Amino acid sequence: MNITTAENDIEYILFNEEQIKARVTELGAELAEYYKGTTPVMTGVLNGASIFHSDLVRAYKGHLFIDFIQVSSYGTGTSSSGTITFKKDFGTDIKGKDVLIVEDIVDSGLTLKYLKEMLKDRGVKSVKTIAFLNKYECHPRELDTDFYGFKIENNFVVGYGLDYAQHYRNLPYIGVLKKQVYES
Ligand code: 5GP
Repeated sequence: MNITTAENDIEYILFNEEQIKARVTELGAELAEYYKGTTPVMTGVLNGASIFHSDLVRAYKGHLFIDFIQVSSYGTGTSSSGTITFKKDFGTDIKGKDVLIVEDIVDSGLTLKYLKEMLKDRGVKSVKTIAFLNKYECHPRELDTDFYGFKIENNFVVGYGLDYAQHYRNLPYIGVLKKQVYES
């Protein structure tokens, strides 16, 4: 991989800064309505969801707690098996809490499915999921997240926290990565 400037590696922009901001504002309002009268633990999945999470919690006008987890997903090649382990566990006791898992993107849906089951076993009051992007063709409807920002087709996207080999997370937009970047 030969990275010169990050911008040069983007085929096209899928969602620009204004579109992202507008959608995150809507999601904040939707979640505030959903969680009215409760104090959810908005839990960002590091590293990919860190930027979405920080925007989302500021768009949410209500009481909340913040936490972060980091998981390793084991699979073959580019597909996830859905079997995960915690690289960083919750920093707070989540028993009896309303937990919202904040993810960058849902692809096969297996990571979030597994995580949800794990949290139910830990005695949370409720567990819901939100992903900023939803690769809707890549998982059955029952593995959809409870909330999402945008549906996208099955392209490899970067920016707004999403990486390729840890690069591009700082791009302020969501872009489709040029194929030659990961095929070379
Ligand atoms: P799954 O839903 O298949 O269990 O895994 C979702 C994870 O796969 C995401 O959190 C993200 O790390 C990775 N992923 C899936 N699609 C993409 C993509 O288009 N771009 C990037 N950067 N990561 C992706």
